[in-house]
Amino acid sequence: MDNSLKKINNRIKEIIIAVNKVSHVCYNPLCETHNMAINSHVLQNKVLWNHIIGKIHGKDKIIQLSTSDYFQQLKFTEGRIYQFSPAGPELNMMAYWGFCNPPCDNDLFSSFEDNPNTDYSAPKTQLLLSYRAYLRLMQVDEYTILIIDEILRDPLFADTPEAQKTHWRMIRAEKIGNCLKHYILKRTLEWFISNPANNTALKFITFELPRVPVATSTFYTEEHYAILDPGIVNNFTPDYRQKSDNMISYSEIPIVFLHLIPNDNSLTVLIGYSNLINNISGIPVDEITKLAIPEKFKLISDVLIKRVETWCMSPAFYENLKSTGQEEKILKAIDHHLDYENKHLPVEVNIFEGVV
Ligand SMILES: [Zn+2]
Repeated sequence: MDNSLKKINNRIKEIIIAVNKVSHVCYNPLCETHNMAINSHVLQNKVLWNHIIGKIHGKDKIIQLSTSDYFQQLKFTEGRIYQFSPAGPELNMMAYWGFCNPPCDNDLFSSFEDNPNTDYSAPKTQLLLSYRAYLRLMQVDEYTILIIDEILRDPLFADTPEAQKTHWRMIRAEKIGNCLKHYILKRTLEWFISNPANNTALKFITFELPRVPVATSTFYTEEHYAILDPGIVNNFTPDYRQKSDNMISYSEIPIVFLHLIPNDNSLTVLIGYSNLINNISGIPVDEITKLAIPEKFKLISDVLIKRVETWCMSPAFYENLKSTGQEEKILKAIDHHLDYENKHLPVEVNIFEGVV
């Protein structure tokens, strides 16, 4: 990489770090304090501390999937887009700025956060976990808009070719589009959480697998979907958090939630999906719980590789992937299936090979 590109790349990294360090007002629409949100995790701390966090050179770390370089991510330079990298217990892909505390974070999540034997088949717990996963990914899009705004304002980018700036503006517009959808879904989830019995849009299945130290709590959409009116995108302001009612109903979005929760004796798998979803990675939803254990692991592996950008594992599990040559194959498969036209192709590698 030449020096000027290196300088720009470093500046982008600085901007990303600076923007991500800043909290925002609590996500709870009924928050009475309007305090700033605390940094918290999408999975319970007990899950991360007991099963994922391990030592690397004497320091507490998790191993997470991450993008290697902002420019590679935008395809300005050649090279692998994803890599596995160590991260500290606080600033990692499972962390986000969610709710103020006290009172909101505690009020919302203490029912299962502090419970040593969380019941993942309880509808409210399923919705709360999914809500938190949802907010974290919504925040990635919100913060990407702020990051691009900072980049475009930064003097170092004054001479950036117009085509590149246009590219950033297009990404910004796409993220705004995502945020509009997110705010509607956020409110819908809040409604279900306060009335779990009224949830007719999202179904959940849950099952146990032999314990592996791999975790995620996330969502993705099975098919591409678009709702956008360009006028709305161009005139976007945060007011749309309030104004975006009725643009699309929840059931029109083919959404899937995936939670992998390692515990002492097993790996709890919780999958939530909207009414539009008939199959998950080619397997009919009604048949998933009937699959044999190796087939269930393969399904989870396929979904992680094709659809999920937010997952992590313990340093020991990673060392095993590395020493058996699996790491290289997995990263290659993730890059390959990133392209939409490759989403429906079979995945040749299995993250859990040798586990059962
Ligand atoms: Zn609050």
